[in-house]
Amino acid sequence: MQQVPGQPPDKTAIHVPCPDCGVAHGYTIPRSPVGPVMLRCPRVARLPRLRRFYFDASLNHLNDERAIAQAKDRVRQEHGDERLEEKFERWKEATRVHIRLVDEYTDQIGELQKGYIQGLDFITMTGAVVLVERVLNRLVFAMLEHHKASPHYKKLYGRDRKLQNWDKLSEILVDWRVITLDQAKRVESLHRLRNDSVHYVPDYDFKAGAAQALAQTLDLIDSIYNVVHRPDLFWLFTVPGEIFARSAALQQPFGRLFVAPACFPFSVLTSFGDTEVPPDLALPLGPLSDEEFLRLRREARSGAPQERAKSPRTQTLELREGLTAEVRFV
Ligand SMILES: [Zn+2]
Repeated sequence: MQQVPGQPPDKTAIHVPCPDCGVAHGYTIPRSPVGPVMLRCPRVARLPRLRRFYFDASLNHLNDERAIAQAKDRVRQEHGDERLEEKFERWKEATRVHIRLVDEYTDQIGELQKGYIQGLDFITMTGAVVLVERVLNRLVFAMLEHHKASPHYKKLYGRDRKLQNWDKLSEILVDWRVITLDQAKRVESLHRLRNDSVHYVPDYDFKAGAAQALAQTLDLIDSIYNVVHRPDLFWLFTVPGEIFARSAALQQPFGRLFVAPACFPFSVLTSFGDTEVPPDLALPLGPLSDEEFLRLRREARSGAPQERAKSPRTQTLELREGLTAEVRFV
């Protein structure tokens, strides 16, 4: 392979017969690659599959005495022996079954849960409502650049990326269709709890307040970020055991900013590893609708016959005299 004029000196251009569509595609690869070079056919149908997430199903496993004893033991190890029964009840209250998208709220939720389980009600309550304000601000300002035509844009542009007015935060997110009116009602309720915890209310019952604030905060965050509650964004287990993003959702700002980074594009035949494709099969070509893609994937996983590859998926190319490179179509 020759150095092509116009290529950066550390890159080289190659043409490789494609195992999927049969055409020889052009690629630019490092001039002296270390390890195999992964190549992709641009015509292969792919759909983003959820790959990065936080997962907790511990509440689903409390169905027998042994599981309960193990869960209680974990609470004991993390939070101590004293008042264990109460801590265990609080652990159940503070836990949600979830597959949550990865974002900055996760660590703070962990702290709130710890606080609640240990009976730190004032800290839990104030922390929860502060977290809600952060989550709402994060959503508004992360998506601001994607709403330049919105009447809210001019008012927010150039601000120091913070807004303390909850009604406004809620109004903007409803207008941008990031949250629904039901979620806005939950924000309103949390706003009342915020005022109760921040402003002096004589004899305020922080125990009751913490339980409410934590539950509503977790429910609000789950309603936005828990994949299980977002069938509008995801194809949930249409293929058994797998979650794919909906193509239409990725056209929207929330999908682009919060869903796409959590996903990896899978072909109909891609296994869980990024590069795991059958060596002797051709990957089905696109364009395919999401529904067609998922139907083919279900069929492939149940063992339906597939087309043979048109050339080897792994090939050794001579880049220049004495230097070969392994390329692999994934
Ligand atoms: Zn191709």
